[in-house]
Parts: sequence; structure tokens; C-alpha cells
Amino acid sequence: MPMDNAMLARFYFVDVGTGNADLVVSPSGETMLLDAGPGRAAERILACMAEQGVAKIDYFLISHFEEDHMGAAHLIAEKVPVLNYVDHGESIVYGKDDEWWKERRRQAFREGMGKEYDRRYDIFRAARDKANHIVGKPGDRVPIAGLDVVVACAGGRTIRTPLDGAGAPNPHGSGIEPRAEDDAEDGQSVGVVVNYGQFRFVYLADLTWNAANALFYPRNLIGEVDAYIVTHHAYSFPRDFGEYFYGLSACSPAELHGLSSRAAILSLGGQGHKHGTAEGMKVLHSVPGMDLWQTEFIREGGESGYNGPEPYIANIEGKNERVPHIALAAKADGSFTMTNSRNGFEKRYPPR
Ligand SMILES: [Zn+2]
Repeated sequence: MPMDNAMLARFYFVDVGTGNADLVVSPSGETMLLDAGPGRAAERILACMAEQGVAKIDYFLISHFEEDHMGAAHLIAEKVPVLNYVDHGESIVYGKDDEWWKERRRQAFREGMGKEYDRRYDIFRAARDKANHIVGKPGDRVPIAGLDVVVACAGGRTIRTPLDGAGAPNPHGSGIEPRAEDDAEDGQSVGVVVNYGQFRFVYLADLTWNAANALFYPRNLIGEVDAYIVTHHAYSFPRDFGEYFYGLSACSPAELHGLSSRAAILSLGGQGHKHGTAEGMKVLHSVPGMDLWQTEFIREGGESGYNGPEPYIANIEGKNERVPHIALAAKADGSFTMTNSRNGFEKRYPPR
């Protein structure tokens, strides 16, 4: 018989391709959705919520305003009540012209990209206007009942003082050099640490190189965690692709070894990353005692040689009967169980 949900913090990492949409259900029954995923994923997220009997979203955290994180928000809000939105304020790339977009999208640039972005942001904002809007600042709490949720970064700023139990010097940061500053939405990401008793979880969304490293070096302000969503889909750009893109990379050794998570959940999608060097994937595989769970098997791109073991991957093309997701159920003693929706594969992690 399953354990009483009133004793568990539950997380559902839904496969949305590249992007994030992660449902958090507090022992109190209140819910938080960590990002919306892209528009095409709305049905999947709603189906996953229905499977868990979730009929409202108390806190809808939109980490930053890009399609793979906000795209499905208005579609989800059409179907289930949303009480509060949490984000970093307003998009800093709204109203930019095509020249600006061209420099930041290069091969992926299409004529009219700026106007199209503005149109989608207007749609999101219209949905947000129907609920309470909370602008998160580093150090703030998201007041979901039954969990302690701390904002670690938002709007390009990070906490300056360590979280409880953190703050040790981090030897894995030495040799890490600052890179070009990110002037777009990724670096604005709202990141949160979720505490449930002894259990600790972190999601830093698409935080980019300098901002992420500020949390982990020279001092580790976050500390060790039990579970972690891999930052910025483990994107790593080669330096010769351009200094700006190099600065958008994620997953430095300071971050991954500093967190020393027992489980990492990667949501990169099946197409991987065309220009990826897989540097972040190599670092992921180098953390002792950390299991790599994936929402989707990586078939293409620079990262395709770095898939984790198959039992830990939710979506493998042609093998899915249910909405592909990874579930995590945590107890206050810090123990947790992870389950793969595809094969029922389960792993138990004891209290630390
Ligand atoms: Zn993203």
C-alpha cells in the first residue's frame, strides 16, 4: 500500500522535450508548478496533473520568459485554476528588434522573431493578469504550506549569504574563469531550493555561467542537496562559437560537485544540442554517487554519447504507454524514492 501522501513531498518531472515543467505536491496538498514547458506540452502536463488528482495550481513559478518555460502557461491556466504566479517581473527582451535577435539566435534566427516573441509574451501576461502576481527576489520565500521554498536567484541577482548549513569554501571552483555576461532571459531565471525536513531539492532553471558560479564559488551558498534539476539543460557551447554563447553554458564543476546531489534530473529533449560540446554532460557523469535520470533519451546532438543507463530514462521513442515522467517522493527524514513512468523502475535513497 502506498504511503500516506500527507507524509510526502512529491515531484513529477514531466517529459516536455527541451524545457521544464515539474509538478510539486506538498504534504499539505498545496501545489507548485515549476515552469510550464513549451506550448506543445500543455496536454501532457495537464494529463500528469489529472493522474495525480491535482485540480489547481497554488504557485505557478515561471523561471524566465522563454518558450520552453512559459509557452504552455496560458493553455494550462485555461483548464485549471491558478492562484499565484511567481516570476522575476517583466521580460528584459520584450520589444527588441530583429537585429538584436539575430545576434543572439544566429542560425536559428527567423525574420520577425522579435515581433513573435512580443506576441507570445503578451499572451502569457494576459493569463498572469488574471491571478495574483508575486515578483521573487533572492532570499524570499514562496509561501506554499508544508514546504520551505527559498528563492536562490532572480532577475540576475543571487543570494549573498549562505543558506542554513551551507557556506563552506568550494575547492571545485578554482580555475573557473568568468565568461561573457548574459543579457537575455536565461540569466534572469528564478531558482528555488525546496526543503522538506532533511530533504533538499534545487532548481536553478536556465541560469548561465557567471550567475550560477556566483552561487557556488568561492563559497558554496546552496550546500549539498538530495535531488537537482540539471541547470540549463546541460547546455555547453564551445568558445569558438562565440564568447556570448560560451557564457550561456551551464553545469560547471563548482556547481555540480558543490551540490553533490544524489539524483540529477535532466530535461534536454531527444534532439540534444547541435553545437553542444557535451562538457556539462561530462561533468554530470563525474560527480561521485550521483545518479543521472533523464526525461528523454538523447538521440542526436553533441550530448548523444552521454546518455545515462536506460532504466533511468523516461521517454524512449516507441516505448511509452503513459505520459513520460520521473516521479520523486520524499520523506522528512531525507529519504526518497524515484520511479520511472515507462518501466516502473524504482530506486530508494536512504536518509543521508
Ligand atoms: Zn530552458
